[in-house]
Amino acid sequence: MTATNSQELLKRSLLRAANALVIPLILISLAYFFSPKIVIAQKVLVELAHYVPYLFLLPAAGLAWRFNRSRAFFIALMFAAAHMLLNEPVLAGFKIETPVAALFLAYLVPFNLALLVYTKERGIFTKHGLFRFSIFAFQVLLAVSLVYWDRDMTMKILAYPLISESLLKSSPVPQGAIVVSLISLVYLFANLIRSPSSLAASKAGILVLFLLAIINIDLPLSGIVLFSVAGISIVLALIQDSYFMAYHDQLTSLPGRRALDEQLLKLGVKYVLVMVDIDYFKKFNDRFGHDVGDQVLRFIAVKLESVAGGGKVFRYGGEEFTILFPGKTMWDVESHLQTTHEMISNSRFYVRDRSRPKDAPDISSQPSVRKLRKVKITVSMGVAEKSDGHANPGDVLKQADQALYRAKNKGRNRISR
Ligand code: GH3
Ligand code: MG
Ligand code: MG
Repeated sequence: MTATNSQELLKRSLLRAANALVIPLILISLAYFFSPKIVIAQKVLVELAHYVPYLFLLPAAGLAWRFNRSRAFFIALMFAAAHMLLNEPVLAGFKIETPVAALFLAYLVPFNLALLVYTKERGIFTKHGLFRFSIFAFQVLLAVSLVYWDRDMTMKILAYPLISESLLKSSPVPQGAIVVSLISLVYLFANLIRSPSSLAASKAGILVLFLLAIINIDLPLSGIVLFSVAGISIVLALIQDSYFMAYHDQLTSLPGRRALDEQLLKLGVKYVLVMVDIDYFKKFNDRFGHDVGDQVLRFIAVKLESVAGGGKVFRYGGEEFTILFPGKTMWDVESHLQTTHEMISNSRFYVRDRSRPKDAPDISSQPSVRKLRKVKITVSMGVAEKSDGHANPGDVLKQADQALYRAKNKGRNRISR
């Protein structure tokens, strides 16, 4: 792929990542400012309040399970367990009281978050899911046995000052755990940029919420708010991602047919519709393979999205795209379309050629000897505008399709109307 194209792809990822971070940032700020201020006078209410985080974290786990998001499922359960250990001293009978639990959790939660994000979606009640359950069980067993073995020594090791002794008193999060958390945060952000989604953003956000809960460990109500917000953040992210998936095409991340159909219902008296089709795409697939064909679709999607004049790009299906210019006339958009069309036919797609002459030795198909080829990719476009003649969007779309057909017949790589 060309350098400019990967830059455009990165820009797109960064934009989506930033977008996905908006809600977690709002939630974290609200929780950060308000959670230490909450005071409940009645003791009964305080006891009841301890259950509130479960009201969000357990439905988050349930929703994640229904949506096949096994990692979110485990994360929600881990947070429920962390809340129980930090804010409810239920395990006091086992000699594991809050400060010890906090020390272990400060290491384990950031570590497990990064580990879960590193692994793939592999189901919950599957072999892989059971393996994950057993990793958690192992961690619990290890923690319990260390505490039974030598409680003071264990605490000393976990709180060992890596950087400076004097910092230790001021930071409730042990220095070793700060290092683990920072590495984990960097990894979670890198993952967010590599594959931006609301869930990826919320995973980074809830790590921050968790660290705040450790910092505010002496304010139990603060922990309750922070863990509740973590649950809310997971639920919102699961819903947002499902919404995104319903309306966007997975390969190109462009809005898909369902989004186009809804947009078409909302149009006013003026608009322009453009049907775009990649030229000789079948030959391209046959020559370079379906995977490279998929890369071309992404390449073209990014180019089309740069169209000026307020054009919205959709993947119509297969190797066809639709550009919608609401509120515009043919006259308004002509030059913008021309620019985009020229930009596509002037750009080159870089591909490793895997084809070789029939009689050549097999070695030429080894990756190291494959030639890097510059390939020209062109598209044909058919344009139609809303006029009295064809009143509804379906008719305008049909006109655009017929115009596309004319562009193909005239030799492709052109715009017809
Ligand atoms: P024309 O210039 O007339 O448009 O020729 P064409 O070969 O582009 O048109 P045709 O409709 O015959 O072929 C479209 C091809 O697009 C067929 C199919 O293999 C390919 N295609 C459709 N969707 C995808 C996809 O998601 N990925 C890949 N790699 N190929 C796809
Ligand atoms: Mg086609
Ligand atoms: Mg085609």
